[in-house]
Amino acid sequence: MGALTELDDRAIDALHEQAAISYGTFKKREVRLNMARGKPALGQLDLVERLLDLPGRGNHVAHDGTDCRNYGGMEGLAEARALYARLIGARPENTMVGGNSSLALMHDNIVYSMLKGNPSSPLPWNRAGRIRFLCPTPGYDYHFNMTEEYGIQMISVPLGEDGPDMDRVEALVAEDAAIKGMWCVPKYSNPTGAVYSDAVIERLARMPAAAPDFRIFWDNAYIMHHLTEERIETANLLTACERAGNPDRALMFMSTSKITFPGAGLAVFASSETNMRWFLASASRRSIGPDKINQLRHMCALPDESALYALMDQYRAIIAPKFDAVYGTFDRLLGDPRVATWTRPKGGYFISLYADGCARRTVELAGEAGIALTPTGAAFPYRNDPDDRHIRVAPTTLSADEVGLAAEGIALAVRLAASEREKA
Ligand code: PLP
Repeated sequence: MGALTELDDRAIDALHEQAAISYGTFKKREVRLNMARGKPALGQLDLVERLLDLPGRGNHVAHDGTDCRNYGGMEGLAEARALYARLIGARPENTMVGGNSSLALMHDNIVYSMLKGNPSSPLPWNRAGRIRFLCPTPGYDYHFNMTEEYGIQMISVPLGEDGPDMDRVEALVAEDAAIKGMWCVPKYSNPTGAVYSDAVIERLARMPAAAPDFRIFWDNAYIMHHLTEERIETANLLTACERAGNPDRALMFMSTSKITFPGAGLAVFASSETNMRWFLASASRRSIGPDKINQLRHMCALPDESALYALMDQYRAIIAPKFDAVYGTFDRLLGDPRVATWTRPKGGYFISLYADGCARRTVELAGEAGIALTPTGAAFPYRNDPDDRHIRVAPTTLSADEVGLAAEGIALAVRLAASEREKA
């Protein structure tokens, strides 16, 4: 298999001509498909439809006797904390289940740190001068948008298959006291599918930090979202930080947004005892308590790990063929000559497609052919993909047939954009 860049001028001209014809033919099909966001498909949501009948009239008391109809219990129901603490890898007393969005919990951690400082802060972050966050890239656009919103400067570090470039991370964090935070999606990352290795996690826990209040935002959104039979487990950052003498460094998050209903699931936050006390003190000024009825509903439907894993296996049966449909189409249309490369994640919701120097043009052409994709640059701080190469592909929402069609449209757009690039 040769690379496109190795073809001579005549072969490039021929490829371009053929790519323009295939793309034009596809465009005439007037396809309208949206692949911009990684949302569960309707068939997945149907598998948890029973939640809508739960907990059911007369069923409002939690195991410990809490009446879920009333105010209180900021840290969440005991049975929900126990279950999600086991999943996220923390002690139940250092785990809270609250609200419907883990992003909101990350946001509140940032805002409380800005306004008041975290328990290790010499000063609130908004009085500490220009502060910075490390952003492994490609990464998650909502993280970057949130950071930008509060004027926190973002520093990109390259994300490899087993985590961020740790030599860079260690050097930056050791030298720069303005670096207060770092975003990490440690398992099946959005969007590349990277899985942090145990060695990377150990280094993150141990590395010296110039800022005493440095925090790692450990967003385990895809903690149990496996796409193969292998249920990959990563090392536990919280316990690694404790062992390394940095017990307050890890802020760990997950949610059931892509387990039950996005926007109506459970969000989880776990950290050290000190951080939890600090967070709950501010959270209890913000609200009188979470939606315990939703927590009870979730515990009725999915009371333990085996119920959750059985559901995730059903999802995998729906999702994995869609990823395979994308790979099959990309292999066929982008493999020979090699026009682009792409990831084959073992879990999560996304494939990263790399079209060097022509991602923007590809997304534009795909859009003109009726396939909406995440805007280019979204996976980078300040929406700036320096090599104009990354495209996020989100196969979950569409049906398997639609995914194949969308992948074909994307691949034809890449072929045309890449041949244009070579001709230029
Ligand atoms: N974190 C990551 C990495 C995600 O990909 C997503 C959703 O796509 C979220 C968080 C959203 O989580 P939540 O719905 O709990 O706010």
